[in-house]
Amino acid sequence: MTTRVALIAHDHKKDDIVKLAGEYVDVLARCELLATGTTGGRIADAHGLKVERMLSGPHGGDLQIGAQLAEGRVDMVIFLRDPMTPQPHEPDINALVRACDVHNVPCATNISTARMILDVLTLRLTQQV
Ligand code: PGA
Repeated sequence: MTTRVALIAHDHKKDDIVKLAGEYVDVLARCELLATGTTGGRIADAHGLKVERMLSGPHGGDLQIGAQLAEGRVDMVIFLRDPMTPQPHEPDINALVRACDVHNVPCATNISTARMILDVLTLRLTQQV
């Protein structure tokens, strides 16, 4: 079954997630990608990846991803949060991270962890680990 990866980045982290997606474009191209609206648009435009776009985060996109996750339809989450800026949808952000913990879904909230997850995914997809 195809791995489903959710991608989300707050505004100050969007350049980072676009760069990260570029580094792992080959492996991401073999996954089903879903993302919050703006993040998904940026990644699709930059790398030509097919991305299922939800609403923008502040308009409920995190919750939409969380709902899919709760139904077993998300295998991993890359969520580059901005820890320095208050977000209007903080409850939604917490709900998504909590849903990852409830359902034991890997959730990377910084680039180092995201790279580790994507490295493991690369190994799995290329070597069937
Ligand atoms: P966005 O949502 O990708 O639509 O900007 C993410 C967020 O900022 O919460």
